[in-house]
Amino acid sequence: MNTPAPASSALFDRAQAVIPGGVNSPVRAFGAVGGTPRFIASAQGAHLTDVDGRTYIDLIGSWGPMILGHAHPEVLAAVRDAAGRGFSFGTPGETEVQLSEEIVSRVDPVEQVRLVNSGTEATMSAIRLARGVTGRAKIVKFAGCYHGHVDALLAQAGSGLATFSLPDTPGVTGAAAADTLVLPYNDREALTAAFAEHGDQIACVITEASPGNMGVVPPRDGFTQHIRRLTAQHGALMISDEVMTGFRVSASGWYGYEEARDGYPHGAADLFTFGKVMGGGFPSAAFGGRRDLMQHLAPAGPVYQAGTLSGNPVASAAGLATLRLTTELGVYPHLEQAADVLRAAVADALTAAGVPHRIQSANSMFSVFFTDREVRDYDDARTQDTAAHAAFFQSMLESGIHLPPSAFEAWFLSLAHTPEVLETIVAALPAAARAAAAAGRSA
Ligand SMILES: *Cc1c(COP(=O)(O)O)cnc(C)c1O
Repeated sequence: MNTPAPASSALFDRAQAVIPGGVNSPVRAFGAVGGTPRFIASAQGAHLTDVDGRTYIDLIGSWGPMILGHAHPEVLAAVRDAAGRGFSFGTPGETEVQLSEEIVSRVDPVEQVRLVNSGTEATMSAIRLARGVTGRAKIVKFAGCYHGHVDALLAQAGSGLATFSLPDTPGVTGAAAADTLVLPYNDREALTAAFAEHGDQIACVITEASPGNMGVVPPRDGFTQHIRRLTAQHGALMISDEVMTGFRVSASGWYGYEEARDGYPHGAADLFTFGKVMGGGFPSAAFGGRRDLMQHLAPAGPVYQAGTLSGNPVASAAGLATLRLTTELGVYPHLEQAADVLRAAVADALTAAGVPHRIQSANSMFSVFFTDREVRDYDDARTQDTAAHAAFFQSMLESGIHLPPSAFEAWFLSLAHTPEVLETIVAALPAAARAAAAAGRSA
């Protein structure tokens, strides 16, 4: 039986009267796991405190941004200082230049960036730029990769591999989806076939650098390089979406991590998108790439793109402080160690309870799939036992651990996930694994 959450329930009722579904982003509604979403009153370090006064260890981290933990004192000081000098000017300022310099200095192939307010805006603008530069209409995306709620990217694969896609939601027109080709991730042959048939019409291929939005599904050997090679051969651009991985899996994102791991150059994407960590918890994101491409943007070039709050000084100060602290405080090695501890403990608990599972990683970023097959693409991810996941989630919540309320999400760690915090999580795992075993398909 779950502990009641009367204040959260009352707020959820009020919210449902004035906000569709009671939430401002669908996954927050607990639709996949059932029960009442916890309304959070405050957060500090690795902990969330809800309106009922219960405290949880947070493994959502605002879906990635809170890499230093919540309300880190040095970020808070930077935000207070920036806010004291005004909230938004609608004119250029120094902080946005510093944040742009920080990003450019970290990711070698990125020579220029344009700051925007969300990852959605970043991918939408990058696609517009790719279409503007190439003069082509069609784009390729991979099933299970999420790039925000951009119309053209809310498209689903049609029946055949190389057929153009259908709208994934009412409100996206057939015309908006028709130029989107959706392919299975990690499938080289499908990409080769798509370029063989439509190569001269494809403006770009957009991919998550290492997908994290169908659970963590890293690129298999050579897949990213295959995208790079084919796009270059056919005059299309490659867009690497690092909104989730950027400044999380390493100081220079998946790009820097993968090259360092493999020890040879992979060929960089033409354009990159960033968000989440670089906003430090504020609405800030970016797209960037080679100067010759970025120079096509207004006012330097003809491709229009703008934003009233873009480069906001308070959001830029939060992002800049967060990025600088990740390296100063040794966040990346810390995350790698913490992930090792947690992955091993999750595997032990699920194995002991006989729950089929698979843990996949992009360096320190990982997710737990409730399936025993290797997950290479979205079809594999969908073989998960979501009932087992829901029971696991509820048991953890009962123990005071707030996991992402979906089986298709990464678990987000932070600098504030100290060994003591990890111990508390680990202690809660066996009961959750038994709950998953009891509720799962194999029960
Ligand atoms: C979160 C995310 C987005 C969308 O960012 P928003 O700020 O939610 O619009 C885009 N791409 C990836 C890979 C993401 O993880």
